[in-house]
Formats: sequence, C-alpha cells, structure tokens
Amino acid sequence: MADNYLREIEGKAAHDPYCSVDFGVSKRCVWVPGPVIVGAGPSGLAAAACLKAKGVPSLLIERSSCIASLWQLKTYDRLKLHLPKQFCELPLMSFPADFPTYPTKQQFILYLESYAKRFEIRPVFDRAVTSAEFDKKLGFWRVRTTAAAGEVEYVCRWLIAATGENAESVVPEIEGAEEFGGDMVHTSEYRSGSVYKGKKVLVVGCGNSGMEVCLDLCNHSSNPSLVVRDTVHILPRDMLGRSTFGLSMWLLKWLPVRIVDRFLLVVSRVILGDTGRFGLDRPDIGPLQLKSLSGKTPVLDVGTLDKIKSGDIKIRPSIERLRHQSVEFVDGSIENFDAIVLATGYKSNVPCWLKENEMFSEKDGLPRRPFPNGWKGQYGLYAVGFTKRGLLGASIDSKNIADDIERCWIEEAKHLSTISNWPYSIQKHI
Ligand SMILES: Cc1cc2nc3c(=O)[nH]c(=O)nc-3n(C[C@H](O)[C@H](O)[C@H](O)COP(=O)(O)OP(=O)(O)OC[C@H]3O[C@@H](n4cnc5c(N)ncnc54)[C@H](O)[C@@H]3O)c2cc1C
Repeated sequence: MADNYLREIEGKAAHDPYCSVDFGVSKRCVWVPGPVIVGAGPSGLAAAACLKAKGVPSLLIERSSCIASLWQLKTYDRLKLHLPKQFCELPLMSFPADFPTYPTKQQFILYLESYAKRFEIRPVFDRAVTSAEFDKKLGFWRVRTTAAAGEVEYVCRWLIAATGENAESVVPEIEGAEEFGGDMVHTSEYRSGSVYKGKKVLVVGCGNSGMEVCLDLCNHSSNPSLVVRDTVHILPRDMLGRSTFGLSMWLLKWLPVRIVDRFLLVVSRVILGDTGRFGLDRPDIGPLQLKSLSGKTPVLDVGTLDKIKSGDIKIRPSIERLRHQSVEFVDGSIENFDAIVLATGYKSNVPCWLKENEMFSEKDGLPRRPFPNGWKGQYGLYAVGFTKRGLLGASIDSKNIADDIERCWIEEAKHLSTISNWPYSIQKHI
C-alpha cells in the first residue's frame, strides 16, 4: 500500500504541493508544505494570519463545522468579552471602531469571520485530529485525522497546537447524580435562562461563567443558588472610569504586583463592599499574584454581586450528594432543585492526540514552560493559546511562532522545492 502511495505521489508532488493519494475508499495521505495548525479558534486563526503575512502557507484543521466553535456553539447568549476590545484583538486587524468596549459574542464572531476572510483562511472543517507524532526517521510530523469522509494523514514539517485551554468540558463526578432526575447541564450547553423561568436552579462553580449564568437566571425570573466551595476574588469590571484590567496593566508598568493588588483590593472594597459578608471570602494572596501563580482568573463583576446582596441569588456550600430532585450540602442541609448548571470549567485535550511528552504536561495538557516561553517545542512543534492569558496571550504566541517559522521557511522551501525528491527519503524509511 505504501509503495503504491509513494509511486503515485512522486509524480504528483512536482506539480501540486498539497498532493494526496487515496489508500482505497476511506484513507488518504496529504503532504502539507507549510505548517499544520490544529484548531480553528481565535488562536489558530491568529497563527494562520501571521504566517500568511510572512508568505508562509498553512493548513488549518478543525473538528467542528465552523471557526471559533467555542464561541459559536458552546457559549451562552448574553456573553460579552470579559476584557475590553483592545486586549482581545488578534494581530494585524483591529476591531471595528463602532464596536463597544466590550463586544457581544455575536460581534466577536463577526470580527473573527471577517478576520478569516481578510487573510483568506479556509480551514478544513469537520475533521478531528486523533494523533500527531513526529516520525524521527522521516523528519516529519504525521498528523492523523478522522471525518465522516474517511481518515486522512497529513505529513508536515511544522505542527502548531491551537486546540485551546477549553477544548473539553470538565464535568465532576457527583455522588447520586443518577438519582437526581432533573435537568443537569454544563455551561457549554447553557444558552439562556428563558428555559428555567420559575424554576429553582443550582449553579455549581463561581468563576466568571457561573456568576454570569446566575445573573442571567435572575433576569429570566428563575430562582438561582450558587455553590461556592472556595475563596474567590471578585473585582468590579470597571473602576475609576477605566476597565479594571486596563488599569491593572497600566499600573503594573510602574508598580510591583503586590502594590497593584493592594490598590485593586482597596478600590474593590469601596465599590463592592466586603464580599466575605455575602459568603464570598477572598484568597490570602492578591488577584494578580494569584493569577500568575495558579492561573486562577478573578471574577469581573457585571451585576451578579448586587443580586447576591439582595438575596435574589443564594450562596450554598459544597455538594455532599444528589438525591431525587434535591441536593444535600456539606453542612447537612437538603434543598429541592429543578435543575443544575455545572460551571465547572474546561480542560485542554492535547494529551489525547499529541504523542510527545517533552513540551506539554500530561497532567493539565498545557506547556510545561511558563509564559512567555511555552510556545516553542522540539522538531518544529509550537503551541498557541495556552498561556492562561486569553486572546492577548494567543496574539503574542502567534507572532513569535510566525517569526520563528519564517526564519527556516525560506531555507526549507528551497529544500522542499525539490519536492519530487521527498518521497525517496520517506521511501527509504517506511
Ligand atoms: C465563556 C468564556 C468567555 C471568555 N471570554 C474571554 C475574553 O473576554 N477575553 C479573552 O481574552 N479570553 C476569553 N476567554 C478565553 C477563551 O478561551 C479565549 O479567548 C479563546 O476562545 C481561546 O481561543 P483558542 O483558539 O485558543 O481556543 P478555542 O476557542 O477553544 O478554539 C480551539 C479550537 O480547536 C478545536 N479543536 C479542539 N480539539 C481538536 C482536535 N483534536 N482536532 C481538530 N480541532 C480541534 C476546537 O473545536 C476549537 O474550535 C473566554 C472563554 C470562555 C469559555
């Protein structure tokens, strides 16, 4: 089979850089002259655009049927960017001037669609990467994919992981879950509180999503409670006429993080009051220090705290176990609920498909080397969007990656322009 493939591709490669060969009805192998990027979210798009601007073609592979599937298919309707637009734009193209400071999810998706159009990025959709491995004998990455149309293996010199920190929903195992009988969804499936009108809903997890889902439920006349089992930093989204994030970044230019944290906590106390009084105790270390040590993002309040203060949202401790239509908490109390929304976060899926153990940690699927050094691995392997710094981090990574690949692209391109020779080198080793 491999010999047939090599003979066939030998003839094709000289004329068609993306030459491919059928291995029967359902298996093909495709040579990609530039990098293969896995994932067509904002990070993958940013990497493809930066490469394109440098004249390096790439191939983007996406498991779902659209770009930015997290935003299009897995987020609630009322979502707006948590950070001001200037901190969320991708390289080489700003947000439209008439977009608000915090664009809505629909506006962000529109921006990403025009971004893809402007840089002529056309991902291969509905194709999931199931494994990617560097073949040391060949000196190339072999990227295996599946789709309804059959399996395809892509062979390339550079591989860019852009599958994100939020590739898979984290669903905790809760004792008695099978007894509950009510509606139980992860936030990735939650769209709007309209379906929970008049119902008692328990939201598990008090990050930005959990807090915002509670607010949405209140606004749709349902009766939400929020499980808070850990300490949490809640900051107003804006302070002193500026975004809290922007102000923090500006202050960090002049002051040490400890002082900026103290400032943020004093101003938050003035604006929000003592959050501990409402069952939301703060961690011992400040919000920015905590973010850089553990990656835990502070909650930027958009109105949820007022609803907690007014009693419209009740705070509950950790869950002990679920019973039929009710929840037993660790303090021994039992309460009836119609539905549970799990705002329990997401995780990377890199360890499931990338066969290497140097660059990425098996444990959390993130690069082992911390920001700003986690973007580059061995043998032409790169990572974009795993910095725990949102879209800003993805922009920094994609520029670094494009600069790096451009440096060897010209040399490699010369070498690969004698592409009709490459099947011979593969043939020697297969
Ligand atoms: C509710 C919410 C709000 C947020 N708000 C902000 C904000 O305001 N500002 C900010 O900076 N960040 C925000 N973030 C963080 C957000 O994750 C990033 O901004 C952004 O979506 C990350 O882009 P990404 O491309 O790295 O990952 P993703 O957007 O997750 O894209 C990864 C893509 O890879 C695809 N994929 C995964 N596995 C495979 C595979 N095996 N094969 C092929 N394709 C695969 C996925 O389908 C997906 O399309 C928010 C996150 C959430 C959940």
